[in-house]
Amino acid sequence: MKIIRSVRAMGKEIKRLKKNGKIIGLVPTMGYLHKGHISLLNRGRKENDILIMSIFVNPIQFGPEEDIKRYPRDIQRDKAIAVREKVDIIFYPRARDMYPSEFRTYVDVERVTEGLCGGRRPGHFRGVATVVAKLFNIVMPDRAYFGQKDAQQAIVIRKMVKDLNMPVKIKTMPIVREKDGMAISSRNKYLDNKERRAGLVLSQSLKEAKDLVKRGIKDVSIIKRKVTELIRTEKPACIDYVEIVDKEKLERLKYIKKGHTLIALAVYINKTRLIDNITL
Ligand code: AMP
Repeated sequence: MKIIRSVRAMGKEIKRLKKNGKIIGLVPTMGYLHKGHISLLNRGRKENDILIMSIFVNPIQFGPEEDIKRYPRDIQRDKAIAVREKVDIIFYPRARDMYPSEFRTYVDVERVTEGLCGGRRPGHFRGVATVVAKLFNIVMPDRAYFGQKDAQQAIVIRKMVKDLNMPVKIKTMPIVREKDGMAISSRNKYLDNKERRAGLVLSQSLKEAKDLVKRGIKDVSIIKRKVTELIRTEKPACIDYVEIVDKEKLERLKYIKKGHTLIALAVYINKTRLIDNITL
C-alpha cells in the first residue's frame, strides 16, 4: 500500500494507472475509520482494479463555531485498517497543498443544500462539494463511494456530478449500525457512557416513525410530533432538526410518500451533534 501526500505525486500516479487501463474506485473520508467506512472500502475493493481512500479533514466544511482541531484523528490506526482492507493507495494531502493561500474557487450546489444540515451549517456543503470536486479532479475515479449516513451529502454530490457532467459513478451505501441500532460515527467517540445511552434515542425515534407509518399514519405533522416527544424524554438531547422530506429532492412533505420519504434528524447530545436518517 502506498501513502501519497502531495497533489502532484497523486496526479502522476493516476496518469500511470490510467495509461495501464486501470479502473479506479475512490472512498473519500476524514479518517478515524470505523465499520461505516469499511463497508465503503469493501464495496470499492470488489468493484475496481485500484482502490484509493482519501483521508482529509477538510477545513472549509467546518463552520467558525465548529472545532476542527477537536475532530478525532489516528492515522496509524487508519493505515493498519487500510492495509487489512486491501486499499492500494491512501491519499492524505496537507491542507496547504489543497488550499494554497491564493485559492478562490468554490462549488455551490443550489436547492438541495438549503434544508436539513445545510440550513443549520451555512457553507458546509459548499466546502463538501468543493473538496469532493477537487478529489475527483485529482484522483479521476471511475466510481466513488459515499454513505447514506450523510444522506444530504450523497444527494449534493450526485447533483454536482450530474450538473457538471463529471465522469464518475456515485455509489451510496447503507448506514452501518451498532448492534443496538446506533448509527456508527467518528463523533460517537466524544460520548461518555451516559451520553452514549441517550444517543440511542435517534435510532429509536426513527424506528418509532417507521412503526407509525406501518400502522397507516401518513400525516407528517403527527409523526414529527411523536418523534420530537420521544427525543425530548432524554435529558442531554437537544433537537437541531427533525425533518421529513422527499428522499431525492429533499423538499418538505405534508404526507408520507411510501418508499420516497426520508426522515432525517440532527440532535445534540450535550455538545456532540449526531445525525441519523431512514427511508420511510
Ligand atoms: P467521514 O469520514 O465521516 O466524512 O465519512 C466518510 C464516508 O463514510 C461518508 O461518505 C459517510 O457518509 C460514510 N459513513 C460514515 N459513517 C457511516 C456509517 N455508519 N454507515 C455508512 N457509511 C458511513
